[in-house]
Amino acid sequence: MSAHDVRHFIAGVWRDGAAGRTLPVIDPSDGRVIGQVARAERSDLEEAVAAARSGFETWRAMTAIERARIMRKAATLLRERADAIATLMTREQGKPLLESRAETLAAAEIIDWFGDEGLRVYGRLVPSRHDLRIRQMVVKDPVGPVAAFTPWNFPINQVVRKVAAGLAAGCSMLVKGPEETPASPAALIRAFADAGLPPGVLGLVYGDPAEISGYLIPHPLIRKITFTGSTAVGKQLAAMAGQHMKRATMELGGHAPVIVCDDADLELAVKISVASKFRNAGQVCISPTRFLVQRRVADAFAEEFARQTEALQVGNGLLDGTQMGPLANARRVTAMQDLTRDAMARGARLLTGGERIGETGNFWRPTVLADVTLDARALNEEPFGPMALIRPFDTLDEAIAEANRLPYGLAGYAFTQGLRNADRLTRHVEVGMLWINMGALASAEMPFGGIKESGHGTEGGSEALEAYLDTRSVAVMNA
Ligand code: NAD
Repeated sequence: MSAHDVRHFIAGVWRDGAAGRTLPVIDPSDGRVIGQVARAERSDLEEAVAAARSGFETWRAMTAIERARIMRKAATLLRERADAIATLMTREQGKPLLESRAETLAAAEIIDWFGDEGLRVYGRLVPSRHDLRIRQMVVKDPVGPVAAFTPWNFPINQVVRKVAAGLAAGCSMLVKGPEETPASPAALIRAFADAGLPPGVLGLVYGDPAEISGYLIPHPLIRKITFTGSTAVGKQLAAMAGQHMKRATMELGGHAPVIVCDDADLELAVKISVASKFRNAGQVCISPTRFLVQRRVADAFAEEFARQTEALQVGNGLLDGTQMGPLANARRVTAMQDLTRDAMARGARLLTGGERIGETGNFWRPTVLADVTLDARALNEEPFGPMALIRPFDTLDEAIAEANRLPYGLAGYAFTQGLRNADRLTRHVEVGMLWINMGALASAEMPFGGIKESGHGTEGGSEALEAYLDTRSVAVMNA
């Protein structure tokens, strides 16, 4: 068996799909098949849901302290296994080994934080306005078995944000993992299993995404849906969840603006922007994409941005020194080609990149386009790849209007040394997460999520735990 042969995890057992069908797993650096992932049949899903239901009964009956102890053990196992897991992730997803290792270690932090936060799920006692013999209680309960759908760009992080919060709240979690990058999330699930998580509390299935969501979302035993992926798919799943009155958290696409004012520390702005743009080859929902630069410094910014971009080392993520790996799948290379051609046909200037590297694997040269016109597809659709789009602006109001023009509202960035500018940006840029004079810092204790068409709900902070809890109101007359 290859390390990339992945099976389902149902009722505490690793097993093939009922019909033995599989899907190939491909190394994005050379296009070779490196493993096979199990493909679920209807009967596998039926068993997975039944297991999630019985796992929920076991898990909710345990104290938060017992749950936190198992979660901490899983985090420790992840830390011990981080090197091996990072290699799995890089081979199937492409990102540099350092990024894979950092993602694995960050997962351990997230599990620890939510395990602890689970200890602080309290209700309230509210004095009655009518009669003090009435004891009014606000009670918090886990919502029940949750179906989680996660994508391939952060194979572990996207799972752990959901699983850690859900488990801490006392829910069981059934994960539909990413078929393209299945082994690293399976290693996360294995850490929980080895830490002593009771059977059924955490399940993992793979297969046809639409078939699985079409079965799980309407299923009466599934009480909540959480999805990370594109806005288009998110809208379909949210509609289905609405039809069945299921609670839903939606972490969807973004098109992050970066507003660089002419009073910014330009050196800092370029350095942070280049590093953030090309992390994970730009396949990041909060990736900075629309660089709006005040006219006086626009040329200097673009020139230095292109120079630093050209210096990036692109290659196999397993090799020392690689700063950007291949794109995770061939679809993204086609998207980069189409979006670049379209932007240039509409008048954008290509400062660097804009082409495939070699014939093998999904390597794309990091791309910087300047003076991109507003009708370019890339300025309207989420590029989800290593592409920076630069445009000048004159007044801050104009930049804020452009930042808010798209239906997305996930992340935003700005660089300015002026308090007044920072205050206006804070008030008026319509995003769920705003970072000023810094790159993204997505830590467990801070909310993570979007507004507008980037989705609803959050996957960080105490608010994330709340998303897995029902609030009930109980009153008792102590006559
Ligand atoms: P896609 O829209 O086909 O799929 C996105 C994700 O949704 C995948 O994980 C896929 O398995 C899942 N999915 C698709 N249809 C589904 C269904 N009917 N039920 C359940 N899950 C379903 O796009 P793609 O080519 O895989 O990825 C590219 C696009 O997806 C990007 O342009 C980006 O917008 C988005 N994306 C976003 C994130 C994020 O972090 N928000 C992550 C990955 C992909």
